[in-house]
Amino acid sequence: MSDTVETTEQAAFRSEVRAWYDANATPKRPDDPWATNTHIDPNAAQLHFDNSRNWLGTVHAAGYSGIAWPAEYGGGGGEAWMTRIEREIAGEYEEWIGFPGATIAMLGPTLLRHGTEEQKQEFIPKLLSGELTFCQLFSEPGAGSDLASLGTKAVRDGDEFVVNGQKVWNSSAQYTDWGFLLVRTDPDLPKHKGITFILVDMSTPGIEVRPLVQINRSAHFNEVFFNDVRIPVANVVGEVNEGWGPARTVLSNESAFIAGTRTPTGAKLRMLAEQAGVADDPVIRQDLVRYLSRERISGWMGEQVQQAVRRGEMPPMDPGLIKLGASANKRLAGDLAMSIMGAAGTAALTDGDAAAQVAWAQAELMGRYSISIGGGTDQVLKNNIGERSLRLPREPGYDKNQSWKDIPK
Ligand SMILES: Cc1cc2nc3c(=O)[nH]c(=O)nc-3n(C[C@H](O)[C@H](O)[C@H](O)COP(=O)(O)OP(=O)(O)OC[C@H]3O[C@@H](n4cnc5c(N)ncnc54)[C@H](O)[C@@H]3O)c2cc1C
Repeated sequence: MSDTVETTEQAAFRSEVRAWYDANATPKRPDDPWATNTHIDPNAAQLHFDNSRNWLGTVHAAGYSGIAWPAEYGGGGGEAWMTRIEREIAGEYEEWIGFPGATIAMLGPTLLRHGTEEQKQEFIPKLLSGELTFCQLFSEPGAGSDLASLGTKAVRDGDEFVVNGQKVWNSSAQYTDWGFLLVRTDPDLPKHKGITFILVDMSTPGIEVRPLVQINRSAHFNEVFFNDVRIPVANVVGEVNEGWGPARTVLSNESAFIAGTRTPTGAKLRMLAEQAGVADDPVIRQDLVRYLSRERISGWMGEQVQQAVRRGEMPPMDPGLIKLGASANKRLAGDLAMSIMGAAGTAALTDGDAAAQVAWAQAELMGRYSISIGGGTDQVLKNNIGERSLRLPREPGYDKNQSWKDIPK
């Protein structure tokens, strides 16, 4: 069902996309094998990633990945509403573009805005089709919320940078072909200066990726170590020492993407309630309606921001605001999944429909703080909204204009 009254053109596009998905994808079943993207077995996790990448390729070949992206870079040159309709329909089917699809929203606009013509030609089509996948190599053990304090060092040697240091919490870095990396190229400058944004082939000698095992026993993210890794200077996106600009483009698009993504969680919760026989329970019903309403509002807000970004305009609201809403939704979903399952949600089942439902509910519960932290914590987003949009006084800071190398670590 559509959320809004559609034009004839939009309705025709909806029918076309629906027909394609009906012919090529599987409508969601209770034991949807794609629903859980956290797998304890590394081979199953790798397979999930590969399936997502291959599915992105299939969607791209059909003309639906990057449908609103410029045609000269492998996109469809279409309207922003086409992406909304396509993603909305895609959410009703099991096959999913997963992490490779998510990185399009982060790296794509950054390359469009800050990349050279060669970089756009080389990387955007491959990003849209999943031919190349990328991970985000930003956070470090001493630089998370305060990302600009990062210390992974890059020293220029002719046409290359030699990189040494460590990154952490890098989602899917064990699977991706490339990464987008922030390095410190001039320690004498203040911390927001002297940072460079560079693309790195993950098979370059000297890169070591160590998966981090989480509470749910899967390894969603990694530590990534750089030991004398040589990266061509030609891979710099934007200017040397001016990487904070592209980094901010990634972060604001990441925030908007997380906030605006129409995950199939609401539909899944409703299905779970029906299967568990509690869809008519008044408390569950009320919580479900609350969740579905919030999910839909977040989707609309995200869409408004993304449309503005695609038109090259300032977003109509602070993107941090919708990300805050999405992180509250995620917590709500985890709690609601467990309310629906009741005591059965604590079981350790191994196969069948019931096991798949329990596994999904447990994954929702254990992962319910992921959005509250990833892509900027709720607390930091509130600070940013206060300063940027409410014009409150800036948080006191002593090190903004100080040379990075003199800041106590
Ligand atoms: C699911 C997930 C996926 C991620 N994927 C990636 C990835 O692919 N690539 C990558 O580079 N990173 C990734 N991250 C890392 C993420 O960006 C960081 O975890 C995040 O920026 C917070 O940094 P930190 O963990 O170092 O926490 P810290 O910055 O140490 O924060 C600790 C606590 O202090 C609070 N705090 C910090 N500063 C302030 C302040 N100024 N005012 C008020 N409170 C404050 C925070 O809100 C938090 O509660 C991911 C994280 C998650 C959860």
